[in-house]
Amino acid sequence: MAEKILVTGGAGYIGSHTSVVLQEAGYEVLIIDNLSNARADVPHRIAGISGIQPAFIKADLCNEKDLDYCFDRHPDIAGVIHFAAYKSVGESSAFPLKYYHNNLAGTINLLKAMQQANCRNLVFSSSCTVYGQPDQLPVSEEAPLKEAFSPYGNTKRICEEIIRDQAGASSLQAIALRYFNPIGAHHSAQIGELPVGIPNNLVPYLTQTAAGKRESLKVFGRDYNTHDGTGIRDYIHVVDLAEAHLEAIRRLLEQKNKEAFEVFNLGTGTGYSVLDIINTFEKVSGVRVRHEFTDRRAGDIESVWADPSKANRYLGWKARLGLEEMLRSAWAWEQLLGS
Ligand code: UDP
Repeated sequence: MAEKILVTGGAGYIGSHTSVVLQEAGYEVLIIDNLSNARADVPHRIAGISGIQPAFIKADLCNEKDLDYCFDRHPDIAGVIHFAAYKSVGESSAFPLKYYHNNLAGTINLLKAMQQANCRNLVFSSSCTVYGQPDQLPVSEEAPLKEAFSPYGNTKRICEEIIRDQAGASSLQAIALRYFNPIGAHHSAQIGELPVGIPNNLVPYLTQTAAGKRESLKVFGRDYNTHDGTGIRDYIHVVDLAEAHLEAIRRLLEQKNKEAFEVFNLGTGTGYSVLDIINTFEKVSGVRVRHEFTDRRAGDIESVWADPSKANRYLGWKARLGLEEMLRSAWAWEQLLGS
């Protein structure tokens, strides 16, 4: 019988892609999501891609009763992949309590419910923001954690610590996946990133500019110490990222993990600048992107890219899709948004 995986935040950007990949690998998927930042038709769209309707419960992790209901109805959950969290860096600085409450209480409630239900396997959605501006590039999991630039980043770091401590004190086995910059969309263009309001992130802003929804893309800073003066990041296709979650939960279910709490970087290992992104986008889409240079954005670091060799080695996973594919899929999604 197929093992059942609970995906919290499974209607969101990375959660929806991961749900599809899990179903395609033969797992049964149960999604819980409060739909605070996702469209209600996402489970249906997932079914449209995979041919299998995922079970869905509209639930809020901050509400313990919702979680009890979920684990009572599904006592056979073999593992959990935990995405549900607020994720806007800017909003987190304006409303820190909202972020600390939602992201920390949600995670603590989930851990309690898992313990009660005797569910031992957890994959956690973390971020490379825990490294700040690293002293050495590429950044490996050995790099020291730096003070977070935002309450959002801090919640990722604190949640990792809470999970690590719980894994040390109970039978919990957990993997934290530290993402670099996820972009792109499923090749079906049925699921993708759904920015609410004005996007903060580069690629949604860029595709909206290309689509005529925004006047001009602001390039934040051209005086960085990089090949063209603009900031460098490690962009990774969301489908590659989703596949890493499959390998991580498999590692736990098959008890191949070496420690009760493990962390892995998920990136391609290659950094691209903002101008590299604009140029590649123009090449694959044939659309020019109006852009202008402005001051650096507060809190931005100059360059960061991953050393993904630990994930390559222990998860047997490697990012396969290149930058052109990432931007082509992001553009296809933008053009179909709303349909
Ligand atoms: N960026 C930009 N204009 C924008 C949004 C982002 O120039 O409208 C730059 C930003 O300074 C950084 C890169 O694009 O160098 C990626 O930023 P994003 O917000 O997508 O991700 P972050 O790495 O900050 O999490």
